[in-house]
Amino acid sequence: MCENPIPIHTVDVPWLHGRDVQVAVLRCDLVHPLWSGNKFFKLKYNLEAARAQQSGCVLSFGGAWSNHLHALAAAGQALGLRTIGVIRGEEPQQLNACLQDARAMGMHLHFVSRAAYAHKTTPEFSAALEREFGAFYLIPEGGANLAGIRGCQEILAGVDITAYSQVLLACGTGTTMAGLVSATTLPVTGIQVLKGALYLERELARLLDVHGLTATAPWRIFDRFHRGGYGRVDAELLDFIGQFTASTGIPLEPVYSGKLMLAIADLVRAGEVAPGARLLVIHGGGLQGARGWQ
Ligand SMILES: *Cc1c(COP(=O)(O)O)cnc(C)c1O
Repeated sequence: MCENPIPIHTVDVPWLHGRDVQVAVLRCDLVHPLWSGNKFFKLKYNLEAARAQQSGCVLSFGGAWSNHLHALAAAGQALGLRTIGVIRGEEPQQLNACLQDARAMGMHLHFVSRAAYAHKTTPEFSAALEREFGAFYLIPEGGANLAGIRGCQEILAGVDITAYSQVLLACGTGTTMAGLVSATTLPVTGIQVLKGALYLERELARLLDVHGLTATAPWRIFDRFHRGGYGRVDAELLDFIGQFTASTGIPLEPVYSGKLMLAIADLVRAGEVAPGARLLVIHGGGLQGARGWQ
């Protein structure tokens, strides 16, 4: 199912001119037409576990533009699994493009109020869902569990890491980064897209710890490139994305990959990337979400 090896595209953009820094993009957005990006890896072992269960039903959680639920709906359809998406917020009069896709791919959409959604990880909440839907395999929001981490440990499996000096990625829950730092020796830099000083540094350490994993690579996180917080988008960011895509042909979306690439451009322009650096940037996919900004 996974295109292997994943294509790597070296980019030529104005902000690299005259600097001895190379940027290559690992196109995880191309691993599958619908079930794309890091979500492919986060779902891989979760769906294997779900298929081993009798119910043939998978339930997970997300917002109305969730790349995770979109990918889960696509994967469920491809594998013949029933999928239920628990959506944060009341059902809108008109479904957005993401939720329309998810429903068209067979996902049952279950809307809950924001107040109720806040309790989604409690046993009472799960029990209520089970009374309503019967048995299911539960994947936490964003695919943030050990099976998700295990899948992400395979992202760099087909990459000759000796060609690079570091790998960079955009982080939400930190699951993808936990997979990388516990599987490679290439230094890993995470750009967090949510506001919150140091939250991800703590979260990553916690994720590794609770799952009994150790970091095999040096890692660090920049917490200053979120541009106001999760899903906050501004004109400079959209402009940057437009120019990047025009010069490289590589599409980005503003929530993750756009902020990641702009952070890299800012670091390069500020001279914070050492000459001779060979950067491998993980494209996390999620391009369906870009429709929310058009
Ligand atoms: C979900 C997502 C991420 C965040 O991944 P985490 O494992 O939660 O850190 C990054 N990029 C894209 C495109 C995503 O869809």
